[in-house]
Amino acid sequence: MFLSRLIYASRATEALSSTDVEQILDASRRNNGRAGVTGILIFSSREFLQCLEGSREAVNQTYARILGDPRHADVQVLDYREVDRRLFPEWGMHALAPAWLTRQRLLRYGERELFAPTRMSAGSALALLEDLARDPEAAATLAPPAAGVAGATTSPAGAILARLRAERPATAR
Ligand code: FAD
Repeated sequence: MFLSRLIYASRATEALSSTDVEQILDASRRNNGRAGVTGILIFSSREFLQCLEGSREAVNQTYARILGDPRHADVQVLDYREVDRRLFPEWGMHALAPAWLTRQRLLRYGERELFAPTRMSAGSALALLEDLARDPEAAATLAPPAAGVAGATTSPAGAILARLRAERPATAR
């Protein structure tokens, strides 16, 4: 099996409600667990940055589905490569609101203190994701895991969103 990682950025076609995000995470939990795909989805009301990791076939099939989704547009692959290990092995789809991206992080990896992943370089996007993968505080944003991919875990979308709503804004951190 070729273990692959795909990172893309996109823009929401309409401002996202928490219900929209919940539906996306529900589908991700349902499908990614079956396909052995893990990763992270960082979202604001207008922007997405997602990392998908799994077998080459599963990552490509998942991405092809996501690409056709009318809820976002301007989908740009930032990076695609074969990897030795997963950055996010523990999560069917780890979700983070940009409130978790501190001002320092946004400035370190982006042009300004704004979450604008379609304007990030591949190197910056990967460095940001590696940084988050190492951050126990970011991992702790999620509720206790439920069953998922063999050796991996997923979280109920509702619990994720409840936690995300309670987060402090980036400027306060
Ligand atoms: P269902 O969820 O039952 O959906 C059936 C069809 O309806 C699909 O074509 C779907 O695109 C469409 N649809 C559903 N809800 C809406 C809506 N509110 N507005 C418009 N069309 C809608 N899916 C994954 O499996 N894994 C992921 O990691 C993943 N990440 C995503 C990240 C982003 C940023 C977005 C926008 C979507 C993501 N999705 C992901 C969802 C993906 O695009 C598909 O919607 C989903 O995989 C289809 O799941 P399903 O076959 O179970 O169909």
